[in-house]
Amino acid sequence: MQKLTRAAYGLPGGSLAFKTGAWRNERPVHRPGHAPCHAACPAGENPQAYLAHIEQGELQQAWLSLVDMNPLPAVTGRVCPHPCESDCNRGHYDEAVCIHGAERFLGDEALRCGWDYQLAPVDGDVQRVAVIGAGPAGLSAAYHLRRLGYQPCIFERESLAGGILRTALPAYRLPRNVLDAECEHLLGIGIELRFHTALGKDVSMRELGDDFSAVFLAPGAHKPREWNVEGSQPCDLHEGLHLLNQWVEFGAVPSMQSAAVIGGGNSAIDVARVLRRAGVEDVHVITHRELPDAELPPHACMTANPREIAQAVEEGVTIHPHHGVTRLILRGEHAVGVEMVHMKKLFDAEGHLQRVPFEGTESVLHVDQVIPAIGQEMETGGLEELAAGRAFLQTDHWGRTEHDGVFAGGDATPGAGTVARAIGDGRRAATAIDAFLRGQHITERQEAESIAYQDLNLLYYDHLPRVEEPILSVEERKADAEVESSLDAGRIAAEAGRCFSCGQCLACDNCWTLCPDNAVLKTEKILEDGSFYVFDYDYCKGCGICADECPCGFIIMVEEE
Ligand SMILES: Cc1cc2nc3c(=O)[nH]c(=O)nc-3n(C[C@H](O)[C@H](O)[C@H](O)COP(=O)(O)OP(=O)(O)OC[C@H]3O[C@@H](n4cnc5c(N)ncnc54)[C@H](O)[C@@H]3O)c2cc1C
Ligand code: SF4
Ligand code: SF4
Ligand code: SF4
Repeated sequence: MQKLTRAAYGLPGGSLAFKTGAWRNERPVHRPGHAPCHAACPAGENPQAYLAHIEQGELQQAWLSLVDMNPLPAVTGRVCPHPCESDCNRGHYDEAVCIHGAERFLGDEALRCGWDYQLAPVDGDVQRVAVIGAGPAGLSAAYHLRRLGYQPCIFERESLAGGILRTALPAYRLPRNVLDAECEHLLGIGIELRFHTALGKDVSMRELGDDFSAVFLAPGAHKPREWNVEGSQPCDLHEGLHLLNQWVEFGAVPSMQSAAVIGGGNSAIDVARVLRRAGVEDVHVITHRELPDAELPPHACMTANPREIAQAVEEGVTIHPHHGVTRLILRGEHAVGVEMVHMKKLFDAEGHLQRVPFEGTESVLHVDQVIPAIGQEMETGGLEELAAGRAFLQTDHWGRTEHDGVFAGGDATPGAGTVARAIGDGRRAATAIDAFLRGQHITERQEAESIAYQDLNLLYYDHLPRVEEPILSVEERKADAEVESSLDAGRIAAEAGRCFSCGQCLACDNCWTLCPDNAVLKTEKILEDGSFYVFDYDYCKGCGICADECPCGFIIMVEEE
């Protein structure tokens, strides 16, 4: 039996003598809500939950809540474009909570302290699941499968785990000691990993089908998209991804004085910044899309992380947004420049927005190299039947393909490729594989409604500036030196305190102390809805003061039946 406490002035003989509950035509109820940061995270994280633990000083609990969804927080805290922050309600008030900073801090802290992931015990007779690729999608699927009690085995054609994060992401954004430590920590939970084993070369789908109960395919997208201008290509073309692979492996790029990088995604910006670090004087990025702008629809903007774009500009990269390349200028078969044109936006007959060259705005850029970085497709070796001539594997929301027992996710499936999305894909597929192996029907997803800014009572929150991660000066940004560094525990705790706790009770006692009928009772232990409060409907007259004064939208009024 829970001990219940009435607010101090609710004494017998006082207002409790009148059972005001009979007057009511509306009643307050607790509505635990989905915070918008949670809804926006492709990995499925609930930042509100771990920020609340951080605020209470429960750091390990915070990390456990985080890795319930995402086993690679030190990675995502560094490289995720953090759509959670774009949707954070605090952004409408002053500045969004620095969620990625908290995530990065918890990831680093877990590695420093050696915290263990929570696992279900695996008994002798478990089913085995094959995972192709040790990138974020494969690692996430293996982690969640292991947590569900299966024995995953990852097949990876390279000699180390990490996927594109290891082979292409420059270390000034993701230091390799962080990637190594987080991969090692994750694999240490008992995941078998067979290196130098490529699907389509060393093992076939048929063999996997014979030896494993299910297969998750996460080979990523490593084949650069075809690129030419009106059919012409320089003879010494260096494709962006290959150039990044060279930089990561050897710390050098082919010699050049100037370059035009084509594309508006992370690869294009990484190539441009790597070239600047390699000493290339004059680096340009040419993209059809606009610079990131909250007022524009996402598909109109460059897909690279806005903060990387800003840092590239600081480092001397010139961006030509809203431009296309109309002509390659060749001397012999070598590029010596490009002709660019401003693009204008027109609606076609079906009302679709098209970008077309704005004639008369052509200009010439003289450069030594033209480097396409326009994205990749899946390499279909070993997957010809599943790919059926397409550039990506087709799946449903749960990663199920048309073939029973075969699941897929990450960059090998259509859609914007990010680490967080790959991690979310791996987790959903693990859930679907579990349902498949148990012969259960998987329930279709239901989009929970997020708590809107208007649902909050902002009178209870002070305006406070957001903390920002320390960042190297442009002069200090050399080679692999990490550009941004972690925030300390004190600043992270202060930042967690800025969270509005959208949709979750923050135990402020407002409802308990402000109810004029003493109809809110405080419980000793936390309840299932995450609060310490219940309504005593014998006394609640439905005035709605508690709902009005609840800061975080946790109480709503519903019509009395
Ligand atoms: C230059 C660059 C910068 C990026 N920057 C960011 C960023 O800042 N933020 C962000 O969120 N995302 C970024 N991304 C995207 C992100 O890296 C990917 O979305 C993510 O890595 C996809 O994970 P994945 O597991 O699907 O594939 P991958 O990471 O590509 O991993 C696939 C793994 O499968 C292995 N493999 C492939 N074929 C086979 C086979 N036949 N047999 C066995 N193994 C195989 C590969 O060796 C690899 O290890 C960037 C991508 C690039 C290229
Ligand atoms: S993975 Fe990305 S979107 Fe999700 S909480 Fe972390 S920074 Fe935000
Ligand atoms: S204020 Fe907190 S709970 Fe609300 S969206 Fe931002 S981080 Fe999430
Ligand atoms: S008013 Fe405060 S204590 Fe009451 S439900 Fe809302 S957040 Fe929780």
